[in-house]
Amino acid sequence: MSLNKIIFSAVFLFSCALTAAPAQFDQLVQQIESGQRYFFSLADYKAALAELEAALPPDDVQRQHRLDRLRCQLGYSGDPTAGLAYSDTKIAHAKQRNDQAALADYYMCRFYLFSQAGDSNLAEQSAQLAHQAAKASENPLSIAVSLALLGDLASYTGNYADAMQHYTTAYQLQRGLGYKPYISDLVLSIAATYRRMGLYQDALSYIEQAEQEFSADSEQFRHALIMHEKAYSHAELGQYNKALALFMQSMQVYQQIQEPLWQSYTKVNLVWIYNLLQQYPQAMALAQEAQAELAVLNAPDLSTLASYKGLLAMYNGETLNALQQPQAALQRFDEAQQYLSAENNPRYMLMLYAARAPAEAAAGNYQQAYGLLTQFITQNKAQQQRAREQQSNILRFQFDSDRQLERTRQLEGEKKLAEQHVSTLQLAQRWQYAALSLIALLFVILFSFAISLKKRNRKLHRLAMTDELTNIANRRRIMMQAEQERVKALDTAQPLCFLILDLDHFKQVNDKYGHDVGDTVLQQMCMTVSAMLRAQDHFGRTGGEEFLIVLPDTDKEAAFVIAERLRQAVADIQFADTPKKMRVTCSIGFSQYRAEEALNVSLARADDALYQAKAAGRDQTHFKD
Ligand code: GH3
Ligand code: MG
Ligand code: MG
Repeated sequence: MSLNKIIFSAVFLFSCALTAAPAQFDQLVQQIESGQRYFFSLADYKAALAELEAALPPDDVQRQHRLDRLRCQLGYSGDPTAGLAYSDTKIAHAKQRNDQAALADYYMCRFYLFSQAGDSNLAEQSAQLAHQAAKASENPLSIAVSLALLGDLASYTGNYADAMQHYTTAYQLQRGLGYKPYISDLVLSIAATYRRMGLYQDALSYIEQAEQEFSADSEQFRHALIMHEKAYSHAELGQYNKALALFMQSMQVYQQIQEPLWQSYTKVNLVWIYNLLQQYPQAMALAQEAQAELAVLNAPDLSTLASYKGLLAMYNGETLNALQQPQAALQRFDEAQQYLSAENNPRYMLMLYAARAPAEAAAGNYQQAYGLLTQFITQNKAQQQRAREQQSNILRFQFDSDRQLERTRQLEGEKKLAEQHVSTLQLAQRWQYAALSLIALLFVILFSFAISLKKRNRKLHRLAMTDELTNIANRRRIMMQAEQERVKALDTAQPLCFLILDLDHFKQVNDKYGHDVGDTVLQQMCMTVSAMLRAQDHFGRTGGEEFLIVLPDTDKEAAFVIAERLRQAVADIQFADTPKKMRVTCSIGFSQYRAEEALNVSLARADDALYQAKAAGRDQTHFKD
């Protein structure tokens, strides 16, 4: 289940200066905007809305407007029909004003409303529209939140490469903004995507990163979510007792903070684990508890609730079949089918075929059982094929060599899983034939994993061209790129600009806060700049805290606008965990390429311009003709 679903994600542009009187209103908005406030139930939404209404200063048009944007989700969750009508009107107004930031909010809200109404196609369309509006608004938070949404949709429906690309960009932007709840969610979303692809060790290494960064006492709920995600990977790796302990631990937290939805969902997962441990009485007891709880739960997101119910029915069916009650089991599988088929999630369907086949066999319906297994094998094959393609796409942006070791370990995990699957199948009589074809299939899978490992080796060569600290192009590579663009510009007579960016008084950052903080500043700065550049631009580190940006097809007027935007973005970065909320500025010097001149001549002019910018007081952009 997506974590982002439970975090309110309206985003705002801070367009007006803050005054002292409406501070309470702004603080509430800030809490919601930065993801610090959690919403578990419809009542939580209503409570937040009431607080905002009470804090709204009279006759404050700007803030009234901001409240309207929030009202869509806070006021209409659980009532999609009214919410859609409300947002229709608001969207028409926002279009008249060409207010892209407001549009992004309203479309985001419609994503949730359509999800609640169970219309996944229109929900996805709204997410796309939200992203377009967010991009047009140039608000990094808005862009990041809408990308995370697109990532969730892609990951959930098996488009893992797309998901990873969305998540990585969103992650870079959120790092720049410094909003921890979102950063942690993104790390977990990336982990969940790896898990869905079967790369459990990759998943675990991301989870460990999240654990180190977000396990403070004050972040109890977040820590529980991390343990929850970790439990899945252990379960998939066959480490059921570890998974059990982790689910129990996170359950305790959900109980402490009285969060009913996650408690019930954890029980659903425990039924699954107890089945795997063959502790059927415990599985049965928990299933009954969870079912009673889910029946009366009033969750804001109905589709999430439906999928929990579906999973519960499926796991409970497995328990019943293991307890030799195949008819009762088949009834539960029927229920599961009803709930899960609305979800558009291919993994769930596959799980259901595999779970149902033994029950059909036990009930004497061999024909049906055989049909299900055939379906399982063909669809599993198709899915694995798809996952492999997705994986090789993902390799494009995954360079770290030590992951290779983990991949090997993951192969062993796959093998173990295969063995388990086979032994389960053998338990159901007369299925050796099917088991054998599964073994063959899994060998094909192992073999193709080995091939993809080889492909990855080739990608490692690229490392030689990458700066180790910041992951952007190193000096060698950026100079090559600059020269290639110079030749192209000469050929096509298109304009071309070179920007040299140098951090201001960076030595003082090191002296005051230490070299490690200096390194982090460089990394975050690079993430922010990378996320803001266009696909055709190049960005590389030419020396310590000096960077070169190559802007093809850009004249000096356009380059100035881009340079100023970058400079402002760097000045706006919030560096998390630094004393006194440290800020860093940079100076930029740039030049436009003149036909026939050598690269170093153009760069020398940019360098002179940088010198002027420094001499004139820093934190500014200069051009030299
Ligand atoms: P100015 O505004 O004139 O550019 O001042 P400055 O202090 O930024 O410039 P100066 O060239 O005097 O100092 C650059 C400093 O950047 C010196 C060095 O300690 C630091 N630096 C260079 N590379 C790295 C790095 O990889 N990590 C860290 N933490 N610091 C670095
Ligand atoms: Mg400097
Ligand atoms: Mg310097």
